[in-house]
Amino acid sequence: MNCPNFKKCGGCQLQNMDYDRQLRFKQAQVVKLLGRFHRVSNIIGMKDPTHYRNKVQAAFGERGGKLISGVYQSSTHKIVPVDDCLIEDKIADSIIVTVRKLATSFKMRAFNDTTMRGFLRHVLVKRGFVSGQVMVVLVTNDGEFKSSRSFINALLQRHPEITTIVRNINTRRTSMVLGEKSEVLYGDGYIEENLGGFRFRISPKAFYQINPVQTQVLYGKAVEFADLKGNETVVDAYCGTGTIGIFMSKNAGKVIGVELNSDAVNDAKHNAKLNGVKNIEFYNADAGKFMVEMAELKMKADVVVTDPPRAGCSLEFLHSVLKLAPEKVVYISCNPKTLARDLKTLINGGYKVKKIQPVDMFPFTEHIETVCLLSK
Ligand code: SAH
Repeated sequence: MNCPNFKKCGGCQLQNMDYDRQLRFKQAQVVKLLGRFHRVSNIIGMKDPTHYRNKVQAAFGERGGKLISGVYQSSTHKIVPVDDCLIEDKIADSIIVTVRKLATSFKMRAFNDTTMRGFLRHVLVKRGFVSGQVMVVLVTNDGEFKSSRSFINALLQRHPEITTIVRNINTRRTSMVLGEKSEVLYGDGYIEENLGGFRFRISPKAFYQINPVQTQVLYGKAVEFADLKGNETVVDAYCGTGTIGIFMSKNAGKVIGVELNSDAVNDAKHNAKLNGVKNIEFYNADAGKFMVEMAELKMKADVVVTDPPRAGCSLEFLHSVLKLAPEKVVYISCNPKTLARDLKTLINGGYKVKKIQPVDMFPFTEHIETVCLLSK
């Protein structure tokens, strides 16, 4: 596949390989990093590996007096204009192009991160592939949003599929897209998505898996590995909006979710209600500190599911897992390097690796997702 922005964008590091070769490449990486712990099952790829991203964000800037939108050139602050992308949702991409055209006709200025002046910084779109709901977040500097009513009406007229529009205000000198304050301009301020027979609320700041097709596969493997019998206590660490815990709640006695982002925890609590799940509790805390407390209080856990960010689990977290001594640990990782590091700690503490299953959540990129089962 040929993308005109391949070199400049840097988002799809494996762009020059056909999809089968990408899968072989990733499989070899996992075998290299994790093969010494256990045999690695064959990576599960996608039937159609394109346009899988349900969350798309574009940076706005100006060039030659005209508004541009796209991605930051890798490790720089220069915007590479992008109108459509091989891995992004097509509807989301087309909404961003429309926002740029409208912003141009409304004489809106882009934010300039050197002078810290101007208005429009980023546009973020999240779409529920199954529910069809679409959220547009306009990230702006502070100050009046001139003619906001007509702007929103014009956008809705061109994209009736949009179900909510949020303005987020980010005034800081930062590479983070979203700022603290948000204001709902249209609709509910969040979208809902359906996955595995459940309903999930997704708000602007909460993490939600970006590849819905493969998320179902990934969670399916996690459920299979946990192999719950019905009365276990399950910890869902780094639980985001509670999706994995809710998936497992049907076959568990009790689920305890822990997550650092308070917006995600609010969504998680709401999601439990939305799905009528009563045997689940969510805590807003650092997963490591929370586990230390659980271990000190001698609380029981039969299965610990952990799904940390790229940095992996903290030592504090892993040592508390060893103290809690659950029968099984299901480790979902988006970085096989930190997974290898953390597996060593768990193995030294008495666990055995039983299964290693890579799932391709991020075709065309170098990123690798792996589910791993350990037991005592
Ligand atoms: N399991 C979820 C989310 C995984 S992403 C899902 O499948 O959707 C990782 C999550 O870890 C994010 O929601 C992030 O906010 C959270 N996180 C990051 N650092 C954390 C910490 N120290 N303690 C608890 N949660 C943390």
